Amino acid sequence: MIIDKAEVIVTSPDRNFVTLKITTSDGVTGLGDATLNGRELAVVAYLSEHIVPLLINRDPAKIEDTWQFLYRSAYWRRGPVTMAAIAAVDMALWDIKGKVAGLPVYQLLGGASRNGLLAYGHASGKTISELFDSVRDHQEQGYRAIRVQTGVPGLKSIYGIASNATHAVGVRYDHEPAVRGALPKEEDWDTRSYLRHLPTVFEAVRNEFGPELPLLHDGHHRMTPIQAAQLGKSLEPYDLFWLEDCTPAENPEALRLVRQHTTTPLAIGEIFNTVWDYQQIIREQLIDYVRSAVTHTGGISHLKKVLEYASQYQIKSGMHGPTDISPVGMAAAMHLGLSIHNFGIQEYMKHGAKTDQVFQQSFTWKDGFLHPGDKPGLGVELDVDEAGSYPYVQAYLPYNRLADGTVHDW
Ligand SMILES: [Mg+2]
Repeated sequence: MIIDKAEVIVTSPDRNFVTLKITTSDGVTGLGDATLNGRELAVVAYLSEHIVPLLINRDPAKIEDTWQFLYRSAYWRRGPVTMAAIAAVDMALWDIKGKVAGLPVYQLLGGASRNGLLAYGHASGKTISELFDSVRDHQEQGYRAIRVQTGVPGLKSIYGIASNATHAVGVRYDHEPAVRGALPKEEDWDTRSYLRHLPTVFEAVRNEFGPELPLLHDGHHRMTPIQAAQLGKSLEPYDLFWLEDCTPAENPEALRLVRQHTTTPLAIGEIFNTVWDYQQIIREQLIDYVRSAVTHTGGISHLKKVLEYASQYQIKSGMHGPTDISPVGMAAAMHLGLSIHNFGIQEYMKHGAKTDQVFQQSFTWKDGFLHPGDKPGLGVELDVDEAGSYPYVQAYLPYNRLADGTVHDW
């Protein structure tokens, strides 16, 4: 059996998705997610121009060899575009291997280590009362762990607030921050206001919902190390499951200072691409959760290596799962999460109805837990005709400016 065909399919049912579809000489197909939010077409070009020609006539069974070949033969290694492209190939080959074996991918990875995957959803509100409604709504949907994001007095728009009224330009659904349009939306930011406000939010949420509910929060890389340390310390009474992305991801050493000052658990890594991005922070035990998505970290093969390394230090998985991880990428995360020993939690935002029509999925969501299902492979099929009815639409993530006009981390 050889690889006969590899196609790059771009579709925008509720948002843009890039999918690689590999077909073997026996007619077996495999899917891989290559979606890179706001820079999708760079991965499309990388795949179509440079990867697809290399795949034709290769043995689809050689997953590790293909990974090493694509990674090392490029010479210019790492980076989000390269690693998303390699991830898509890796996922598609695991999908094919599962279909050939007649087994779900988690069985090929060692079998299930648990019955299901605890997942967290995103509650948000511009005000405390809107936030409480959103937390209740998520509990009614079955979520047993909840990320909390709120508006900050004095700021017009804030990361993570669903249906943000200030996003008048273009279309956005649920919590998707990428806005369709020719230019990115500008948002405002003030770290001191945020640091003052956030502990009062968590105090209110704990008073309303009690001590048991696991609560998470995302700082979205906006703080300096000492600001992040201050926040971690001020949130300690509210027993967070984790504080995510408290400092910019490019500077792993920043976490050392944060760690010295707070026992609030830390999570980072959604914009990391390889095990080398994690080398220092895992070895020095500066984090508690690995935030990488299968899609942006070179696929199942490579993220499994990151998580095995992390397991030596009791660091757990917390895979990225916003709506820009396609149903194929989410399925890959579920198979990997079910099989590893050091699973922590899975981020899970539901996709829109159009997306669920384009991608036929077989996962289950019950009582706060996900399961990838038992169909052979990843368990996702792509309706190519339906996908074709939603052409690519330009969309960008927003960016931040401070009150004096300085561009800030978004
Ligand atoms: Mg995040």
